[in-house]
Amino acid sequence: MSETLQPRKESFTFLLENVIRPEMCTRCGMCVGVCPHGVLDIAAAAYPVLVGECVSCGFCTACCPGLDVDYPALSRQVFDATYDPAELQGHVEQLYVAHPNDSTIRDAGASGGMVTGILDHLLTAGEIDGAVIVGMDSLLPYKTRGVLATTGAEIQACAQSKYCVTPSLAVLRQLRRLKGRYAVVALPCQVHALRKMQLVDRGLASRIRYILGLYCHCNMEVNGPEEAIEASGIPLAEVAAFQFRGGGWPGSFFVIKKDGTEIPLQKRIQHKDVMNVMFRLYGPKRCLLCVDALSEYADLSFGDFWAFDFAGDMAGLERCTLVSQRTAAGRELMGQVQRSGRFVVHPLPGSRNPKRTLRMARGKKNRAYVGLHAAMAGDRPHPAYHFAIPRPSAGQRWQVWSFRLFQRIKHRWFRMVVLKLLFSPLGVLAYRVNTLRKKILIDYHA
Ligand SMILES: Cc1cc2nc3c(=O)[nH]c(=O)nc-3n(C[C@H](O)[C@H](O)[C@H](O)COP(=O)(O)OP(=O)(O)OC[C@H]3O[C@@H](n4cnc5c(N)ncnc54)[C@H](O)[C@@H]3O)c2cc1C
Repeated sequence: MSETLQPRKESFTFLLENVIRPEMCTRCGMCVGVCPHGVLDIAAAAYPVLVGECVSCGFCTACCPGLDVDYPALSRQVFDATYDPAELQGHVEQLYVAHPNDSTIRDAGASGGMVTGILDHLLTAGEIDGAVIVGMDSLLPYKTRGVLATTGAEIQACAQSKYCVTPSLAVLRQLRRLKGRYAVVALPCQVHALRKMQLVDRGLASRIRYILGLYCHCNMEVNGPEEAIEASGIPLAEVAAFQFRGGGWPGSFFVIKKDGTEIPLQKRIQHKDVMNVMFRLYGPKRCLLCVDALSEYADLSFGDFWAFDFAGDMAGLERCTLVSQRTAAGRELMGQVQRSGRFVVHPLPGSRNPKRTLRMARGKKNRAYVGLHAAMAGDRPHPAYHFAIPRPSAGQRWQVWSFRLFQRIKHRWFRMVVLKLLFSPLGVLAYRVNTLRKKILIDYHA
């Protein structure tokens, strides 16, 4: 590992003025988690805030991924390799399609339950003492929160994707006071922050054994879930639980009311297609400038595997997680997973790399490239990735028009109208037409 970096003496005010106010904050929570003096906390809309006296130690600015993610340096640090912008999925040693044998864990998971299964296995085997993950708030059940889970029950209770900005790395501040080693489940921006932290805070870094990244096309603003519930006519006060993918795999937005009634907000549209609309309505400005769809710098990264895209024996692998093994730590962990006898693991030949995943990664990169070029031309704040940002073609610029249009219309009434349409028979019709269009125009078959 490279030598420890001495942070520049900068105060939290730098983050406030240059990152938070211009909406370049990823709201990963790292500044709160890494602050050695404990003077930062999370405030409204998941943004960090100063709650004590800042001594300008510079740890928060040095670990912040908001304005600076040095891809070539990260590739050297994590893989000892050169970064190649043409490689859509980043550095990958091996892909797997997998699921845990335990059907309770598999059924609880968003894709195939591999993340929860691996964390549960590591905890049982004494390989970790806990995991930093994301759960739902007990008082406001449509809000998410970072969790330090130290029991199998807590890990299983936090299964499922929470498609909503959650500054879960703030939980790292608890690790300073604890012994032992932990796994962290993270989105791509959080993986960037964790890798930066490993260079400046060796004490905290030594607590983290594995970084498990999630694929991420986009995230949603914190008000996304509650507005979706309200647009469906359900009073928030009546909500006992909200699930992003409830009601059976692959699931959909799902509300359980206090009287026990279960309500899927939309069951005739595939979850991923609902999310495509939600990301346009609630995609944070900084997410649209992110070039990392597949947690390229995690030890292992995890995403959905859609068996219906495949022919032959792979068409039977429904309800699995796609796993990208990236680092030596990831290789060692997948070795443990395979030897444990607790998982079904199919190595995926490179030739059968899911086209849908690669297309998603290309789409996210292109979207960011369009935004980055526009920001550079207009001298607006944007993250620096330290490689030459490819110039998007007219066609690629056209592909992101709907994101840019939706971004400009900030009014709540607009979001409510779109959501009401999405959850109505008209939304189902639009979905069917779009699905037909994709069937004709896009070949996902692998
Ligand atoms: C915002 C977001 C966008 C995503 N976009 C895509 C996509 O476009 N394509 C794709 O293939 N996959 C995407 N994923 C990943 C996918 O939804 C699954 O999380 C992944 O396949 C792992 O499934 P699993 O069943 O193995 O995980 P599970 O066993 O369900 O475990 C998931 C783990 O992740 C933790 N977690 C949940 N939400 C968050 C969060 N916001 N931040 C950090 N940790 C979290 C949970 O606490 C749990 O420990 C996305 C996930 C998120 C959160």
